[in-house]
Amino acid sequence: MKKTPFVTLDQVRQITREIPTPFHLYDEAGIRANARALRRAFAWNEGFREYFAVKATPNPYIIRILQEEGCGCDCASYAELLLAEAVGVTGRDVMFSSNVTPEKDMRKARSMGAYINLDDASYVDFLASLGPVPETVCLRFNPGGSFSLGNTIMDMPRDAKYGMTEDQMAGAINRLMKLGTRHFGIHAFLASNTTANEYYPELASQLFRLAVRLRSATGAHIAFVNLSGGIGVDYRPEQPASNIQTIGEGVRRRFEQILTPAGMDDVAIFTELGRFMLAPYGHLVSTVLHLKHIYREYVGLDACAADLMRPAMYGAYHHITVLGKEDAILDHVYDVTGGLCENNDKFAIERSLPEIHRGDILVIHDTGAHGYSMGYNYNGKLRSAEVLLTKDGGFKLIRRAESVKDYFATLDCTEFAFGE
Ligand SMILES: *Cc1c(COP(=O)(O)O)cnc(C)c1O
Repeated sequence: MKKTPFVTLDQVRQITREIPTPFHLYDEAGIRANARALRRAFAWNEGFREYFAVKATPNPYIIRILQEEGCGCDCASYAELLLAEAVGVTGRDVMFSSNVTPEKDMRKARSMGAYINLDDASYVDFLASLGPVPETVCLRFNPGGSFSLGNTIMDMPRDAKYGMTEDQMAGAINRLMKLGTRHFGIHAFLASNTTANEYYPELASQLFRLAVRLRSATGAHIAFVNLSGGIGVDYRPEQPASNIQTIGEGVRRRFEQILTPAGMDDVAIFTELGRFMLAPYGHLVSTVLHLKHIYREYVGLDACAADLMRPAMYGAYHHITVLGKEDAILDHVYDVTGGLCENNDKFAIERSLPEIHRGDILVIHDTGAHGYSMGYNYNGKLRSAEVLLTKDGGFKLIRRAESVKDYFATLDCTEFAFGE
């Protein structure tokens, strides 16, 4: 399907009068409509809750929009917990799904009353050493082996550092029950960025069966199954998008096949989606600084891999639209690059695009999750601003761009003075 930006050149020109490129732009209306579609798809499950994976887009305005749409937060670090807390997301609105957890982070999660998702059985003692164990505890499962959908191997849980074995889960539940825990959640994240609508239903069926086995083995009450993240988006125009209604129905079918007959139909479904909640509703907006022609044609942008790491890191495809040339023929072939001293700093390689001139504004699509948040300061590049396209069609600066002052801030313990 053709990918269309959620902004026009005119709208972007209004923004750039106040906020220079590059910036990450988010579409409030799109975020809200998608969050509602997710809730509708799981409305059959009374306890359903999405805990937005804060690492995908750690901005308090985004968290607040999702909070208004009924979402909690999935946090994995101290700073992410503070972010959620600042928006008023606390207590059972927070899922703390961390690994290699520092004591300070665990104390903070406990003091907020967050659901705690233990990455390992050894964390039972760690948790108990910090005070009385919570009434409800979640445990992260690693089934080992490979994870397949049909004939396709999607990922290799046996190579993943996360979670614990089934035996370890049963042992952890028994010990936690002795310590006073009364309800349990189970969690697993087995494949990332999966657009196959069968991913969640297959994962759900594995976790539902596990829930039934753990209940029989331990007598524990399983209160929720946390399907975590992993629902993918259609980064490529020819890729089918995930169909959340189909996914919700698929999970419901497994629920009715496995949990209902076992008398476990009070189990709540939790999700920790990041990419699915935000990726399509973000654009990286950037201006063409230079064109060069050597053995290929190059378009050099004011954005670079420090603003969006996925192409450099994973070779990920991100669609690009030249604003104002949405319907022009794609009769030129360009490498679209940033200015890092790294040859992998390319947003696109040999991409067919309309003819590009200096000063043109490019939109890089699907950057709303794992975009800004994976940013870094290599080569002295400064992190960009974040702007919200509000649902009434206006815009709001929701994070300013970094200045060199910010870049040098951590050198304030030295004798050096820096210009601005
Ligand atoms: C990254 C992560 C998520 C979100 O993953 P997406 O692919 O963005 O949906 C959810 N839960 C945990 C524990 C994660 O590490």
